[in-house]
Amino acid sequence: MSTPTPHYMIVGGGITGLSAAFYLKKRLEAEGRPFRISVVEKSAAFGGKIHTLEKEGFVIEKGPDSFLARKRPIIDLAYDLGLEQELTGTNPKAKKTYIVRQGKLHRMPPGLVLGIPTQMTPFMKTGLISPLGKVRAALDLVLPKREITNDESLGHFLERRLGKEVLERIVEPLLAGIYAGDTFNLSLKSTFPQFRTMEQKHRSLILGMMASRKNVPEETAHLPAAIRNSVFVTFKKGLQTLVSGLVAALESADLRKGLGVASIRQVGQQAEVQFEDGSSEIVDGVIVTSPTYQAAQILGHFPAASELKKIDYISVANVIMAFDRKDIPFELDASGFLVPRNEGSTITACTLTSAKWLHTAPEGKVLLRCYIGRSGEQEWPAWSDEQLISKARHDLRNLLGLTAEPLFTEVTRLNHSMPQYPVGHLEQIARFREELSTAMPQVLVTGAGFHGVGLPDCIRQGKEAAWQLADRIIH
Ligand code: FAD
Repeated sequence: MSTPTPHYMIVGGGITGLSAAFYLKKRLEAEGRPFRISVVEKSAAFGGKIHTLEKEGFVIEKGPDSFLARKRPIIDLAYDLGLEQELTGTNPKAKKTYIVRQGKLHRMPPGLVLGIPTQMTPFMKTGLISPLGKVRAALDLVLPKREITNDESLGHFLERRLGKEVLERIVEPLLAGIYAGDTFNLSLKSTFPQFRTMEQKHRSLILGMMASRKNVPEETAHLPAAIRNSVFVTFKKGLQTLVSGLVAALESADLRKGLGVASIRQVGQQAEVQFEDGSSEIVDGVIVTSPTYQAAQILGHFPAASELKKIDYISVANVIMAFDRKDIPFELDASGFLVPRNEGSTITACTLTSAKWLHTAPEGKVLLRCYIGRSGEQEWPAWSDEQLISKARHDLRNLLGLTAEPLFTEVTRLNHSMPQYPVGHLEQIARFREELSTAMPQVLVTGAGFHGVGLPDCIRQGKEAAWQLADRIIH
């Protein structure tokens, strides 16, 4: 009697799930093992948060728009899919970034890395920080390191190293772009563990950041020449290229859209997956990659799933607007600007998309993207699209003098989309995973809610889960 082909199921067809399926398939093929892989996606499309829209010659990202070039997993994946020639970098003529201070745009001083000064002269000259605030930030050079091993909040760490002003006026708005969070509620160990390492190794965050910058050319040496000098990278036709590439590479897999998973239970040495349409299937291994609040529901009967409920998600909206170049009353020589919390604006940032990414707009046209919503500013989901557009236009009028009527607008609502890793997050998810591996060894749970929200981190986590499943179940 022949043994049935082992069947592995990936729940969620975002970048984590598609990467997990891709690397599981690659590994099993390389080992010459028989297998069947299914990817089950609740919505009508693969890609999760990634959504590129091509409209009237514009390339519009409604979710993520790019990634950090120095993070290898996504570049490796582009090579694995034969897509490396599709990669493109930012416009070198639009490298400046601005920060709003008392209603005016100030240039971010050159040499800031994640908001940490690495060149003292431009930092000392900036109008963004008061003389006292600069002296306080410079204290980082002499303050002793703190000998603690416990987690602490990112805000608390940055305030004790660089002072309140640098935190509030520069670092927080910058990092808010990544987490949309309140730095005092975010775990240092889970968001920027390198900051702690720098403090431990160099005593000072500034000195640590300066030392780490020296390694940058080495880190980018592996990149195709076209993107080697760009901090951020994307695909010429948008991030959808990556999703389409993964879906094409998974052609032989069983890709199901519009089907949600309701629950997963251990049944002997296998797992029973119950779908929202009432059907069910027995499989040999599962990787769940949905947001953690959905994973907590799927594993609702499992007590340790309550750890996943501790991860809050922030909702964000984007208002994207297209204009005629002639209607734009300012230079397009910057990538955009950030708005700190206390400025009284609705928008938290604005990307001058077509200045930063030359491929995103046709000749003579301009694309702008405004961000709305962050921790503590969660009233926007009650607003209509018209209200979101009107508030974004009001802010652009005040900050940039932009009064023209847009050619068109696109509003994206990403409810519960930005995970907020709480202080102690690493310990919480370690506890969850340990208990899960004992109770349900056939089931792994991963994705943006665990070890990094950026696309490269999601790909890494998808790959790690695939390899873990292969090691745990198959061997
Ligand atoms: P998701 O993309 O959320 O995918 C999970 C999938 O699971 C979804 O498709 C969902 O429908 C599905 N699902 C849920 N429940 C079920 C169920 N019960 N059954 C079956 N399927 C289910 N990162 C960057 O690197 N660069 C950026 O520029 C960037 N910008 C961002 C901008 C915004 C506005 C947001 C919200 C995020 C941004 N990020 C960025 C972060 C990054 O996009 C996400 O962290 C990443 O895409 C998450 O991928 P994922 O696969 O883990 O989760």
